[in-house]
Amino acid sequence: MSFQNPVFIPGPTNMPEVLRRAVDMPTLDHRSAAFADILHPALKGVKQVVKTKTGEVFIFPSTGSGGWETAISNTLSAGDKVLAARNGMFSKKWIDMCQRHGLEVEVVPVPWGEGIPADRFAEILAADTGHRIKAVLATHNETATGVVSDIAAVRVAMDASDHPALLLVDGVSSIGSMDFRMDEWRVDVAVTGSQKGFMLPAGLAICAFSPKAMAAIKTATLPRWFFDVRDMQVGYAANGYPYTPPVGLLNGLKMACDMLLAEGLENVFARHARIAIGVRKAVVAWGLDLCAVSPDLYSNSVSAIKTPEGFDANKIVTHASTKYGVSYGAGLGEVAGKVFRIGHLGSLTDVMALSGIATVEMCMKDLGLDISLGSGVAAAQEHYRTA
Ligand SMILES: *Cc1c(COP(=O)(O)O)cnc(C)c1O
Repeated sequence: MSFQNPVFIPGPTNMPEVLRRAVDMPTLDHRSAAFADILHPALKGVKQVVKTKTGEVFIFPSTGSGGWETAISNTLSAGDKVLAARNGMFSKKWIDMCQRHGLEVEVVPVPWGEGIPADRFAEILAADTGHRIKAVLATHNETATGVVSDIAAVRVAMDASDHPALLLVDGVSSIGSMDFRMDEWRVDVAVTGSQKGFMLPAGLAICAFSPKAMAAIKTATLPRWFFDVRDMQVGYAANGYPYTPPVGLLNGLKMACDMLLAEGLENVFARHARIAIGVRKAVVAWGLDLCAVSPDLYSNSVSAIKTPEGFDANKIVTHASTKYGVSYGAGLGEVAGKVFRIGHLGSLTDVMALSGIATVEMCMKDLGLDISLGSGVAAAQEHYRTA
């Protein structure tokens, strides 16, 4: 495996040199004043990235999955009903987590490649006149299928019946790469991790809680200890953690927020959109299709590309790794062997994206697919040259 090549897995993403240096720190006493100068800017930076003024940010030593657990265990109680669509591996796992916590999940099964059916949610919520549903779970960007769902539409579906449920959103593969508007969409808990849009190693669960979610904490009775945001809140008030914080990662997060905000969030989103369009133009040139069924669902952070019937998509991923030292995402769950994924989130330029498109093209040709070398690259080049 070459460490010189960028990775094209949809997380962990490529680490910019400045962030690698930021996480590489000598031991720092986490009870010293110097830690406060890392913690508070990191919390503030995350608030800006998720676009919240009223939310409170909590960062745990964990991963995105720990963020899911933070969201549900702090706001819900055993037996509570939650509503969720299952349209890919990540929404599926979050549902499984809820079930193991003793929550009753109203699952809306959706074909993989489609988004959250906001109209179906609206019907279910309108019929729930007794307000048994306490939370709506939404995976903003289904990383397994490269599908982005419309969170604003989910909010509209909830408002249509003035439903009081909390809106818990997995933004693990969108936050920091695609627009996320916590306050505007009235998201109650936003969840992400350090190793995707924030361009850091895995190791942090990053959550933002709305005032409504903070109020729900008082009545929620699911067991929680490590992920109890009340303890974290007490810790932050005293410039610390209820346990030992991962200081280097937090320093990296502070710097990652600075980087994103210095580039300008809208510019970051535009860069991801431009890169993603180039990838999609390459897919068209190859004569292949995306797993996402319609253009409004195309993700700007990951593309899941269907391979021809009868061809094992995993062969591309394995071949790319062994022959060229480049990593792509394999298909997961229901789409295993049917798709391969190009992750294009985090620290990525047009030029890096071209190398990823070129390499996968070589792989497909090596493996006997009917692909002309340069076809996808040229389509992307034309876009990057002019966009
Ligand atoms: C990566 C990912 C997760 C899981 O995050 P971990 O950091 O691996 O625990 C959850 N949801 C989505 C949408 C993801 O892309």
